[in-house]
Amino acid sequence: MARRKYVVGNWKMNGLSDAVAEARAIFVAADDHPAVDVAICPPFTLIGPMAVAAPGKAIGGQDCHSAASGAFTGSVAAPMLADIGASLVIVGHSERREGFGESDADVRAKAEAGLAAGLSVILCVGEPREVRESGGAIDYVLAQVADSVPGEFDPARLAIAYEPIWAIGTGLVPTVADVAAMHGAIRGALAARFGGAAEEMRILYGGSVNGDNAAELLGAGDVDGALVGGASLTAAKFVPIIGAGASLH
Ligand code: PEP
Repeated sequence: MARRKYVVGNWKMNGLSDAVAEARAIFVAADDHPAVDVAICPPFTLIGPMAVAAPGKAIGGQDCHSAASGAFTGSVAAPMLADIGASLVIVGHSERREGFGESDADVRAKAEAGLAAGLSVILCVGEPREVRESGGAIDYVLAQVADSVPGEFDPARLAIAYEPIWAIGTGLVPTVADVAAMHGAIRGALAARFGGAAEEMRILYGGSVNGDNAAELLGAGDVDGALVGGASLTAAKFVPIIGAGASLH
C-alpha cells in the first residue's frame, strides 16, 4: 500500500517563545506540500503556544511518562500532552535511552501510554557506532523493536524511527543501501509479528538529514519519512526536506 511520507521535526531542548513564529512559518510553507504529513515536536513549554498559533497542525511531545498522573516530579504525562494540543509523542529517542537510562520496557510502557491517551507515537530505535562497526546493527535494532514495540495498536498511529546513534547530530549518514537494508529488516520483523498491519506502519529514518541528502534518503526502500533534529529548527532548512518528501509522491 502507498504510505504517505511523514516528516517530523524534533526541536530537542531548543526554542523560546519567539520560536513559535518559526513553527508557524514552517506549517504555512508545508501547506504547499499537502502530500506530506508534517509534525513538529518542540520542548514541552512551546506545545500549547504552538497549538494556538498553528491550529490543526501536528504538534508533539518529545517524551512522556508511562503513568497517566502521579508523584513523578518534573515529568509530563501523555494525557497532559493531548490536553494542551499535542497529537503525537516521540518515545525512546537515543538521548532518552542513553542520557536517562530508559530501557526497552520503559519505552514500550511510554508508547502504550501515548496510544492510550489518543496520541500517535514515534518510537525510536538505533544502534551505537561500535555495534554498526562490528556488523551487528540489524540484530541490535530488531531486538529493540521486539522489546519496545507494544503488542496491540492501530498501525496508522505507531511509526518507528530508525536513528543510528552515530548519525545523530554528527553529519554522518549511513549509505542508502544500509538504510534500505535496515528498514527492510524492521518491516520484515513487524510483518512477522503483526501480519498485514506492518504495511500500514511508517518507518522513518533519522540522523543528520538535511536539504541536500533528504531526497536520496527518503527515496530509499521502506523509508516513509524522516525524523529531523538540527535541520528542523528553521523554515529555511526544514521546508526543503518536506519538499524532498513531496517530490517522491
Ligand atoms: C534526532 O535527534 O532525532 C536527529 C535526527 O537529529 P539530527 O537530525 O540533528 O541528526
